[in-house]
Amino acid sequence: MITAEEALAIVLRHVQPLAPQVQPLLEALDCVLAQDVVAQEDLPPFPCSAKDGFAVIARDASNPRRLIGEQTAGYVAGLRVEPGTCVRITTGAPLPPGADAVIMVEDTQEANGMVTLLRPVAPGADVRPVGQDVAKGERVLAAGTCLGPQEIGLLASLGHSSVLVYPRPRVGVLSTGNEVVEPETPPRPGQIRDSNRYALMAALRRAGAQPVSLGIAPDEEAALTAVIDEALATCDAVITSGGVSMGKLDLIKPLLARRGQVHFGLVNMKPGKPLTFATVEGKPVFALPGFPVSSLVSFELFVRPALRKMSGHRLLLRPRVPVTLAEAIRGDAGRPEFHRAVVWRENGGYKARSTGLQSSGRLLSMVGANALLVLPQQDRPFQAGETVMAILLDHPETDPDPVAATEP
Ligand code: AMP
Ligand code: MG
Repeated sequence: MITAEEALAIVLRHVQPLAPQVQPLLEALDCVLAQDVVAQEDLPPFPCSAKDGFAVIARDASNPRRLIGEQTAGYVAGLRVEPGTCVRITTGAPLPPGADAVIMVEDTQEANGMVTLLRPVAPGADVRPVGQDVAKGERVLAAGTCLGPQEIGLLASLGHSSVLVYPRPRVGVLSTGNEVVEPETPPRPGQIRDSNRYALMAALRRAGAQPVSLGIAPDEEAALTAVIDEALATCDAVITSGGVSMGKLDLIKPLLARRGQVHFGLVNMKPGKPLTFATVEGKPVFALPGFPVSSLVSFELFVRPALRKMSGHRLLLRPRVPVTLAEAIRGDAGRPEFHRAVVWRENGGYKARSTGLQSSGRLLSMVGANALLVLPQQDRPFQAGETVMAILLDHPETDPDPVAATEP
């Protein structure tokens, strides 16, 4: 059986960044830029005022000066500042020819069409010169940058209404099992509601991918093959859950082996041992185990990094930090365990406690968890005070019970 590290390496070897696409600017939020962006113009494009006040000639000795008109933002008034004169100006308005400085209104007194300067003004004061913020020809964004609000704003300021980025992977999500019904269907005896498709589609959205629901398929080879084939025609990747363990109705592995190449079908870890990874016509297929915790943990460990690579990200993995156990925790004697935990900051380090019973069906072991403890296989429990590594799924709070911490 391969290790989780080996499995991840195999997955990452078999996925590549998707072909870049031009996206409308706002759709590109959180996407990775696929080309350098070079400014085609200066910002600001004209010398302009940084304050509300008066445009003046700095070295002009006359005081008071005659007010000859006003220049507000948004047009060119056609005024010229000569010695002995000034022009009322607002923030962002073009500096009138002749003027070389702005004095803010708080430093002046105005009466009868004359403006008195209450302090001296240096040349260039409160004038934003051409290209102060961005110089024409400057590379403002490098390919590989993940676009946040500030990058989106910068692109808009340079006239880009669309941008070349790696697209969000379209990922089909299929639940399998004769016993699985839609959440709104009252389950008959022997049936259970589908939680995996919802959890996985939500996880996909968080990972910046586009989830595509493929519904629920029964444990029948023809039905499974049809829906997986159809999904592969329109999606960049497919995720299934269930049907990969050792039961007589676990049909997914042989099906994928017939349709493409199965790269592994067992991983030495808990939860998620039957995790299966295949490629079919070059597209990745993640066949996740059916138990809700197993499918979500394996998504986190293997699917999310793959999707990040497909999306052009360079940082594929969550941060890993050493944490000190606040309590004794029993891992697994047979397999390395990804133990769901709450991690918080304390005295400049991290502490951790378990979310309790770690059964693979118990989604409550993930509710409130912000980390997975990486516990090597071991007979004896890990002791309070021992240090283990943790994968941080979320930003840790400073208190182990953040809800209680906010109450009076
Ligand atoms: P399997 O891997 O198909 O043997 O499924 C393992 C366990 O997970 C079984 O108890 C299934 O009933 C359960 N299971 C499978 N698919 C889902 C699903 N979509 N939502 C919730 N539980 C599921
Ligand atoms: Mg099943």
